[in-house]
Amino acid sequence: MAGVRLDKVRKVYPNGHVAVAEASFDIADGELLVLVGPSGCGKTTLLRMIAGLESISGGELWIGDRVVNDVAPKDRDIAMVFQNYALYPHMTVQENLGFGLRLRGQPKEEIDRRVAEASDMLGLNERLSSKPAALSGGQRQRVALGRAMVRDPAVFLLDEPLSNLDAKLRLSTRVEIARIHRRVGATMIYVTHDQIEAMTLGQRIVVLNGGVIQQLDTPMNLYNKPVNLFVAGFLGSPAMNLFHGTLRRADGLSLQMAEGTVSLGVTSDALAAYVDKPVIVGVRPEDLQLAEANGVATRLHAHLEVVEPVGNEIFLNMRYAGGEIVSRAPPHSVVQPGTDVALGFAAERLHFFDPETTCR
Ligand code: ADP
Ligand code: MG
Repeated sequence: MAGVRLDKVRKVYPNGHVAVAEASFDIADGELLVLVGPSGCGKTTLLRMIAGLESISGGELWIGDRVVNDVAPKDRDIAMVFQNYALYPHMTVQENLGFGLRLRGQPKEEIDRRVAEASDMLGLNERLSSKPAALSGGQRQRVALGRAMVRDPAVFLLDEPLSNLDAKLRLSTRVEIARIHRRVGATMIYVTHDQIEAMTLGQRIVVLNGGVIQQLDTPMNLYNKPVNLFVAGFLGSPAMNLFHGTLRRADGLSLQMAEGTVSLGVTSDALAAYVDKPVIVGVRPEDLQLAEANGVATRLHAHLEVVEPVGNEIFLNMRYAGGEIVSRAPPHSVVQPGTDVALGFAAERLHFFDPETTCR
């Protein structure tokens, strides 16, 4: 096994498109790092550079203790699992699993041992003599994973491996991948555009946008301390509420908006840099609360338009003078659409953003 290090790794495609600007980060030996971002932000390009399937335009890529910029893919000790995993249709699961090892001329006993190990771990023992066509989507994806596992690579690269599965299978296979990571203890880089997958799987997460790393952090830090509006808006569903205005020193600190001034209940010196400047104040839906029910001071009045019970909670879609806002309430909250509500929030749960730097 090995760690991976990117030092100002860059990709400019022949047509001049800068797909990855300057990516620098470390993946510890045995870590599961998630790379997340919207479609087209450069995730696959980054992964393909690590695999050696795409040339590196600048910077250094380290795997273990060597620079591998010019090392051929087969010599990088890496296995990659793609979104469109191609299994050989004429081969059984057993043959598919062992194919890569046979190609490398491994002895039969060794192949059998490793295939049995992988098939055990992935719950494929009953399907070893089946052909891919007879398998479910989830089983096929597990065979693709198993094919990577039998090679016992230093690093696993997974490019949106669950995106072809239906919602239920995606969930169970996601848990399966986390389990495999714990058991195998391998270094894994997992690419997804799905924020839930990223948050649940990643020990650390890299948020990428337009080829530029926005933030590299633990799931909780990304959620609680997003460094800019892009990260704030990308993680969390429903998305963070945003209030545009100017921060004023009055009544502690207040947000002066076109539609009125809201006292924030904040006095922090840390916010001095924002005073008398345009600012965007963010409040996550779970932090925007019905004032009366939660015993917090009323800061804002809104009209409750649509109530969406989702089982374990309720989404409250509201309109205030400045636009639409959303809050989450416990499942048994007494709420009536078409009524006026008073809202509050805890000062320490507010996020402050400079409108000039929406992202990096
Ligand atoms: P993601 O995997 O995050 O969806 P990609 O890495 O596939 O993003 O692509 C990043 C950007 O690079 C996109 O704008 C894409 O159109 C562009 N791109 C991908 N491959 C090539 C290529 N061979 N030549 C030029 N541009 C490319
Ligand atoms: Mg991609």
